[in-house]
Amino acid sequence: MPLDKHINFFELEKASARPGCPLCTIVSDRCERYLDNMLFEHISDRAFRKAHRAAGGFCAFHSRNLESFRDGLAVAILGRDILEDRVESFTKRKILKTKERCPVCVEQDRIEQEYLGFLIKAEPAADDVARQLQDIVVKSSGLCAPHYGQLLETAKKIPRWILEFHEKKFASLLERTNRFIECSAYGREKDFAELNPADQVVWKELAANLRGS
Ligand SMILES: [Zn+2]
Ligand SMILES: [Zn+2]
Repeated sequence: MPLDKHINFFELEKASARPGCPLCTIVSDRCERYLDNMLFEHISDRAFRKAHRAAGGFCAFHSRNLESFRDGLAVAILGRDILEDRVESFTKRKILKTKERCPVCVEQDRIEQEYLGFLIKAEPAADDVARQLQDIVVKSSGLCAPHYGQLLETAKKIPRWILEFHEKKFASLLERTNRFIECSAYGREKDFAELNPADQVVWKELAANLRGS
């Protein structure tokens, strides 16, 4: 089935023009918007409040910026639910066990599956939109290691160009990392100085690629 040129395509196009993993960029933007939207518009949404409470609040990562949110009342209303539960468990000297996952993490999984599912449908052989997507993605930094791993688990059949592009990308990153380590040895200062500027700080690229979003 040919690819539709809808929101997934345009968001991938936009994210691919930025440095780093395009899916990390999309996930970070969308999760921020989701959180903002939930705090602003859906604070009285019972299902959301329930999911948030059952999870014991947002995870450490997704609650890292709550203090700087525009709407203190929304943060207070959500936080009160969690603090009430915690105070109760403290009184009983019991650790609060939560049954559900952070609602933003759940949303993040959904977004990742949506975009990875879209990417694996890009078979350029007889599909103009897939060809355009291929052109865009191969010019990007490519997926980070966690997202590429996730993509491989998503389906058995993955377009050849996606596999080849990422196998090459990670082989080159490994090779550059090896060179960086070798040239960092005592007495190799001259070789180190001859590395190009990107290779002299390849450890930063490596860390970002391994971490993902
Ligand atoms: Zn990523
Ligand atoms: Zn989370």
